[in-house]
Amino acid sequence: GNQQLRDLNRLIETIFPMLQAHAFRNDKEVLLELTPLPEVLIDEKEILQVLLNLVQNALDVTQAGGKVTVQTVLREPQYVTLAVSDCGPGIAPDIVDRIGTPFFTTKAEGTGLGLAVSYNIINRHGGRIEFDTSPLGTTFSVHLPA
Ligand code: ADP
Ligand code: MG
Repeated sequence: GNQQLRDLNRLIETIFPMLQAHAFRNDKEVLLELTPLPEVLIDEKEILQVLLNLVQNALDVTQAGGKVTVQTVLREPQYVTLAVSDCGPGIAPDIVDRIGTPFFTTKAEGTGLGLAVSYNIINRHGGRIEFDTSPLGTTFSVHLPA
């Protein structure tokens, strides 16, 4: 990849109007909550790909009138976190173990590649992806070394 020291918040802000427009067309909304962060060594194209994958998955489980939240947080001093949250139905317990497996999809027109590619990208950045899921919604958190 082509990793450079970048401000993750600025990167998100550049793509945010497009995410919002995309959501609005489907009568949904994307909210942004940014926290000042130290710069991180990232390949901007790849991180945008991860962000788009996570936001699309979140929008896919969001009902009309619903919201998806994109957040940056500095929870651990050595990691910068990008979190995408939805209020969808959650990931069923019987498929949790298959999340991130190439070609695993529950969608009629899904490729099952979005998360597999995202996990790969974040691994190559020395980071990790985690998720929290319940019947009230799901949050995917991308942790990148600061
Ligand atoms: P695709 O979107 O093509 O199905 P992904 O790799 O992006 O492929 O996602 C794989 C599967 O993970 C989805 O089909 C869905 O079952 C599950 N999934 C991903 N994100 C969410 C989410 N936010 N809420 C519920 N299920 C999800
Ligand atoms: Mg997807």
